[in-house]
Amino acid sequence: MKSFFSEFKKFIMRGNVLDLAVGVIIGAAFQGVVSALTDNLISPLLGMIGGMNFDMLSFKINGAEFYYGKFITAVINFVIMAFVIFVIVKLVNKIMSIGKKPVEEVATTKKCPYCCSEIDIEATKCPHCTSDIPAETEDK
Ligand SMILES: [Zn+2]
Repeated sequence: MKSFFSEFKKFIMRGNVLDLAVGVIIGAAFQGVVSALTDNLISPLLGMIGGMNFDMLSFKINGAEFYYGKFITAVINFVIMAFVIFVIVKLVNKIMSIGKKPVEEVATTKKCPYCCSEIDIEATKCPHCTSDIPAETEDK
C-alpha cells in the first residue's frame, strides 16, 4: 500500500499533471465556444441548406421520439473541436520548434601553442609543458 501512495505522489508531482489539468480546463472552456459556434452559426446554416434545424430532427417508434438531430450536432461539434485542437497543436509545435534552435557548441578547450596539447580555454599556464599561455590566444 505504501508503494501505491508513493507512486501516486510521484504521479502528482510530475508537473505534467498540472499541464493536463490546465489543458482540461481550457478544453472545457473552449467547448463552450465551439458549441456556441455550432448551435448559433453552423446548425442554422446547415438547416438553411437542408431546410431544417438538426436539433429538431427526430423520428418516432412506438410513440418514443428519437432526436437523432442532436446527435448529429454533437458529432459536428466533435469534428470542429478536433480540427481546431489539431490546428492549435500544430501551431504550438511550430512555435516550440522555433524556440529550440540547436545550441551553438561553445569551445571549452584550446591548444597550447607550445606543446599542442588540449588545455582549458581559460588556462593561463599549460598543465602539460608549464608554459605561460597568452590570455588572448585565439585558436582557429
Ligand atoms: Zn603546453
